[in-house]
Amino acid sequence: MRIAFGGIHTECSTYNPVLNYADDFRIVRGDELTTNPYFAFLQDYPAEFLPTFHARAIAGGPVARMTYEDFKQDFLTRLAAYLPVDGVYLAMHGAVYVEGMEDAEGDWISATRELVGPDCPITVSYDLHGNVTQRIIDAIDMFSTYRTAPHIDVEETMRRSVTMLVKSLQTGIKPGVVWAPIPVVLPGERTSTEDEPAKSLYARLPAINEIEGIWDASLMVGYVWADEPRATAAAIMTGTHADVLAEQAANLALAYWQARDEFRFGCATGSITECVSMAIASETAPVILADSGDNPTGGGVGDRADVLAELIRQNAQDVIVAGITDKPATEAAFAAGEGATLHLTVGASLDPAGGKVQAEFVVKHLSDDARSLAKQALLQTGGITLVVTDRRRPYHNLADFALLGLDPAAAKIVVVKSGYLSPELAPLANPNLMALSEGVVDQYVERLARKRKLQPAYPFDTDFSFLPVSRLSARFLAAK
Ligand SMILES: [Zn+2]
Repeated sequence: MRIAFGGIHTECSTYNPVLNYADDFRIVRGDELTTNPYFAFLQDYPAEFLPTFHARAIAGGPVARMTYEDFKQDFLTRLAAYLPVDGVYLAMHGAVYVEGMEDAEGDWISATRELVGPDCPITVSYDLHGNVTQRIIDAIDMFSTYRTAPHIDVEETMRRSVTMLVKSLQTGIKPGVVWAPIPVVLPGERTSTEDEPAKSLYARLPAINEIEGIWDASLMVGYVWADEPRATAAAIMTGTHADVLAEQAANLALAYWQARDEFRFGCATGSITECVSMAIASETAPVILADSGDNPTGGGVGDRADVLAELIRQNAQDVIVAGITDKPATEAAFAAGEGATLHLTVGASLDPAGGKVQAEFVVKHLSDDARSLAKQALLQTGGITLVVTDRRRPYHNLADFALLGLDPAAAKIVVVKSGYLSPELAPLANPNLMALSEGVVDQYVERLARKRKLQPAYPFDTDFSFLPVSRLSARFLAAK
């Protein structure tokens, strides 16, 4: 049993003007993929796995067209060298946007289908914040997506996808895919599976999975910051009984639609001004304030200084701001050295739309540690300790703070560029506030420009009715 594997995995806000190039990805090719921890679980299957090409990046702006074409060519060339194969596994995110091309995964997956031919089964795994199209459904045989957000079932999902392929190859049974798109697209922060109603909706999936004829039950939230027609939620089922799959997909889609008004943010929210005031007035600490519109892990630029400006204006004390991407400020701090005092402009170094701050900063610490994704400078202004970096990166893990000698638990206010808090920061927050700040991943999605999105779609449009329709993949229909 010979199974080729690879893929492309990132999430792109079409509102983000900063393109992603090859440098922004972690690219793993050939034999290095086999030993990569991300794919270590494949060793547990009785198959020979053939490594091709996989590229991953934190969320961001669109992928430069040439970068994408190079990636796809590399992947297809490596795949072609293995042919014929018994099956293909694609580890995708589902929300890639390529400069000048909609439905990038549709392009990647259908190119895969074209190369391997109609008889080779293809299974994929997705992030539930990915987007799906009929073109994607028509090219695949099996599909599985995360059932948790924040995502704590990444490997489990990849296993579900590969398990189906191995089962199909072992038994000769060929499953198909049915999907029911839902004209609802909400931010992940309103659809966390730790909060209702997403919690109950996702809790249904294991039981659906047990129904005779169903191999996988998946529910997609979709990716709202993609201004593409395909950006919607969807119920997606894999299995052998088309009628059962269609019924279950429609039921799940209807339940999601009916719950649409109940999706809420899982923490207190407000404008930047309101959240900074609330944080200063808080009697408990640390307040963890998420600057959500500029969250790099959601596709934000990560260079905005709007929250920093408000902290300075309100004279906030005992604050850690981690961090702001600002290469010129980071380089200036490195050039000046630890202990130097600098007059700096911070913010809007990548996207001129963002807020800027001018202030005196003391360079407290410089770090060029290989464990970090970036060069980092620790700057002090008044009661605020600010981290600036020369590359886009989040501060969502305690180790990121420890590496800089920072203790978020001991601060009064910690500002991070985040949506819902990471599993490591969430337990620390006392309380957690989320600023509905402006940015290319604005959580107040109703104020986003819509040129290409499906219309009508909730929450942009509210006065329309909907009844789910399940659609079979072309391959499933042809086999019936
Ligand atoms: Zn996600």
